[in-house]
Amino acid sequence: MTTRITHFVGGQTWPEASGRTAPVYDPATGVAGKVVDLASRGDVDVAVSVAVKAFKEWREVSLTKRIQILFSFRELLNTRKEELAAIITAEHGKVLSDALGEITRGQEVVEFACGLGHLLKGGFSEQVSGGVDVHSVRQPLGVVGIISPFNFPAMVPMWFFPIALAAGNTVILKPSEKDPSAANFIAGLLKEAGLPDGVFNVVHGDKEAVDALLEHPDVKSISFVGSTPIAQYIYETGTKNKKRVQALGGAKNHMLVLPDADLDLAADQAINAGFGSAGERCMAISVVLAVDPIGDELVKKIAEKMPQLRVGDGRRGCDMGPLVTGAHRDKVKGYVEAGVASGATLVIDGRNPVVDGESGGFWLGPTLFDHVKTDMSIYTDEIFGPVLSVVRVNSYEEGVALINAHEYGNGTAIFTNDGGAARRFQNEIEVGMIGINVPIPVPVAYYSFGGWKSSLFGDSHAHGTEGVHFFTRGKVITSRWLDPSHGGINLGFPTQN
Ligand code: NAD
Repeated sequence: MTTRITHFVGGQTWPEASGRTAPVYDPATGVAGKVVDLASRGDVDVAVSVAVKAFKEWREVSLTKRIQILFSFRELLNTRKEELAAIITAEHGKVLSDALGEITRGQEVVEFACGLGHLLKGGFSEQVSGGVDVHSVRQPLGVVGIISPFNFPAMVPMWFFPIALAAGNTVILKPSEKDPSAANFIAGLLKEAGLPDGVFNVVHGDKEAVDALLEHPDVKSISFVGSTPIAQYIYETGTKNKKRVQALGGAKNHMLVLPDADLDLAADQAINAGFGSAGERCMAISVVLAVDPIGDELVKKIAEKMPQLRVGDGRRGCDMGPLVTGAHRDKVKGYVEAGVASGATLVIDGRNPVVDGESGGFWLGPTLFDHVKTDMSIYTDEIFGPVLSVVRVNSYEEGVALINAHEYGNGTAIFTNDGGAARRFQNEIEVGMIGINVPIPVPVAYYSFGGWKSSLFGDSHAHGTEGVHFFTRGKVITSRWLDPSHGGINLGFPTQN
């Protein structure tokens, strides 16, 4: 029997939706045992009107109470995270331990939002002019839209909604239609934690739902995470419709390995960051820049370790699961074929992997290319799969120049034991998130997450203080409580005296 996943609006599932649906696969079996509803413009209108109504009350709920609800949500997440991880693995394919990891990283933002009282404090200046005081406050925007990608169905929504809710906004989340169930599970936990109905809503869908959110006058902001072409479209359309927009896009993350680095450590980290979650992470390492003369030795170490990786069903304790859909697997496979055709050296071929899983799953094994050139598509494009390319460079300077010339600027890492080189790297590199002997430098929740160049459109990164700023708008109040001494007419511009 096919399970139907529908919207969650006004505190309940909402089966009377438009009728269009999309299949949802278990990537480890290839079976589409579920369908998800795809919202029409009319469905989105209903959800937004529910969220508008809920906003009027939610913004009046005290900050203390709002945060207490988030704290209860955090506690529920702690006790139910295994269930959520199983849901993620069943639709995304990532291994269970990795699914638990994304929940933990998302939960950090919930914990950060539990301290939002401190960050929402405004300023106060007494007696800026005779009898005049000035203070500032930050207020919620209203209904905010979150549009998330398939690769982190729990963590990416949690980058945004805990802060949005604590600040007094109401939320419409449009998750990826490829793995939609995590969003509904989270909505259920928020309700159980005491969140009033209509404050957090999930609308499933595709471009039609996204366009309806982008154009709806009552949706005040859009937080988008996904591929670069869509991120650019979201930014341009959202801002044209007078919305505040943060649109995080794709990536091509380089790891620069200097000759003085510990090569065993670098090889391990290249494998972990290249093939974890089957390379379907926006902070995955997809290019290793090996600085002369360590190329041969580093490639040998990576190649020797890669066969240890067990590919298979994420529920069976394997290291790496399948890709999210058959179409995506075929696209990634196409890049492997293009790499071979363009003359890169295929050191390990993942096209026919040994798998601990069903034959219908969307499998592709870890793949390693050496002697990759910068005009090859395996170097220029975001592949978003388990394909690692090694590019040989002659010097630190050549490596930095390549990273800075690349279209994307999400994350990067340097591996070295030279503190001076690392310090120079962090200063010179044109990328948003830098790791020094750390391959996937996803910032903790109280810092902000975001890339540069084509990896982010808009000027606000996710969570941390930038997230608080994004989900609130400032107001400055100048006040004077009159006494008789303030009488008199003066048409001059107010100055501070
Ligand atoms: P995607 O761009 O295909 O989809 C993202 C969201 O946009 C989904 O909700 C989808 O339904 C919607 N969407 C898809 N096509 C659309 C269209 N034509 N018009 C309007 N909306 C549309 O991305 P994905 O495949 O789900 O996720 C992988 C991508 O996300 C990769 O490029 C990855 O680098 C990126 N990503 C970036 C970050 C980051 O922080 N920069 C984090 C995670 C993922």
